[in-house]
Amino acid sequence: MKGKFPLDRFSAMETPFYYYDTDLLRDTLRAINTEAGRHEGYVVHYAVKANANAKVLNVICQAGLGADCVSGGEIRASLRSGFSPHKIVYAGVGKSDWEIDLGLEKGIFCFNVESIPELEVINDRARLLGKIAPVAFRINPDVGAHTHSNITTGLAENKFGIAMRDMISTIEHALHMSNVHFMGIHFHIGSQILNMGDFAALCNRINDLQRQLDHSRIKVEHVNVGGGLGVDYEHPNRVPLPDFKSYFDTFARHLHLRPGQQLHFELGRAVVAQCGSLITRCLYVKEGAVKQFAIVDAGMSDLIRPALYQAYHKIENLSSEESKQTYDVVGPICESSDVFGKSVDLNATHRGDFIAIRSAGAYGEIMASVYNCRPLPLGYIKEDF
Ligand SMILES: *Cc1c(COP(=O)(O)O)cnc(C)c1O
Repeated sequence: MKGKFPLDRFSAMETPFYYYDTDLLRDTLRAINTEAGRHEGYVVHYAVKANANAKVLNVICQAGLGADCVSGGEIRASLRSGFSPHKIVYAGVGKSDWEIDLGLEKGIFCFNVESIPELEVINDRARLLGKIAPVAFRINPDVGAHTHSNITTGLAENKFGIAMRDMISTIEHALHMSNVHFMGIHFHIGSQILNMGDFAALCNRINDLQRQLDHSRIKVEHVNVGGGLGVDYEHPNRVPLPDFKSYFDTFARHLHLRPGQQLHFELGRAVVAQCGSLITRCLYVKEGAVKQFAIVDAGMSDLIRPALYQAYHKIENLSSEESKQTYDVVGPICESSDVFGKSVDLNATHRGDFIAIRSAGAYGEIMASVYNCRPLPLGYIKEDF
C-alpha cells in the first residue's frame, strides 16, 4: 500500500495537499474506454464538477472523454484543459445569460435544458448571436422513488428536470422555435449508485418514453443517462476500479436504442474518486479520558464530505509500522463536525506522521473553502514528484 505514495518526497512538502495517482487514473480511463467501446454508439463524458484540477482534467481529456459541465466556469476550465467545444455538454437548472452566451459562442455540443423558461431564453440568446442552439431536455424519470426516501426524491423532483407528462409538449414547443435544434433526452438519477437494478429501472422508464416519442414521430439523436456509478470507499486498495463492465452491460441489456442513436454517459465520481488522497500531517496526539485524538493539519475546509454527508473515507498512517491503536481523527477547525473518522484503527501515530485520507479524488479539492481563513489545499499529480 505504502509503495503507492512517494513518501520520501512528501517530507519536503507543506501539508495538507491532494495527491492524484495518475497511473490509477489512466487505468480507470482505459477500463472505461474498453468497456464502453464494446458497445456501438456509447459516448462517455466526464462530470467536471467532481474535480476540476487542471492536471487531472488534462489526463481525462487525453483519454478522449467529453466534458459534462454545470457552469460557465466549468466550460472555461474544460476548454483551458484541452477539451474540444464539440465534446462539451452543459446542464444545470439555473443558467445565466452570460453562461448561455459562452456556450453558444464556443459552439458546445449540447445544452441540457431543464425548463421551458430556460428554453425560451436560450432561443432568444441564440437569435441575438445568430446561432442555432443544440438542446436536449432533462427529463425527471421518477426513478429511485422506491429505493430512497419518498421525501428526498420528491424534493429532487421539484427542482431537476421536466416532468414526464410534459415531455412531448416541451419537445414540440422546441421543434417550432427558430434558433434551437432538438437533439436528445437527458436523465440523471443520483450518485454513488452501486445497485445495477437502479440503472435497469432507469432503462425501463426510458424505453417507455421512447415508445411515446415514436408515436409522436419525434426523432431523438441521442439519449444521455447521466452519471451516478459509485465506488468502494471501504476498500480503495482491494477495489480501486469501479465495475464498469456491469455498468455498461446493464444499459446494453435493458435499454433499447433506435438505429443510429447514440447513448451518452456523464461519469464523475467513478472516474476520479479512487485516484485522489488528501495527505495531511499529524500535529498532535491528544489523550482524552476515554479516547485518543489524532489531530491533523487538514480540516473540513479541505475535505467536507465527512462533515457534510457523514461520508466514510478510509484513513491510513503512511509513516508508522507500529501496531494499531484506535483514534478519532480530527481537524483543527472550530466546528465539532470537523472529524474525518471516529474510532479509526491506525498504526500507532505520532506528531509528524503522514496520514492519507483515501478515495478523496471526487468532490474533495473542488469543494474546498477558505473557512477559518485557511489557504486552499494544492493538488499534485504523481508526475510532480
Ligand atoms: C453530478 C452530476 C453527474 C455526475 O455524478 P457522479 O455521481 O459524480 O457520477 C452527472 N450528470 C449530472 C447532470 C450531474 O448533476
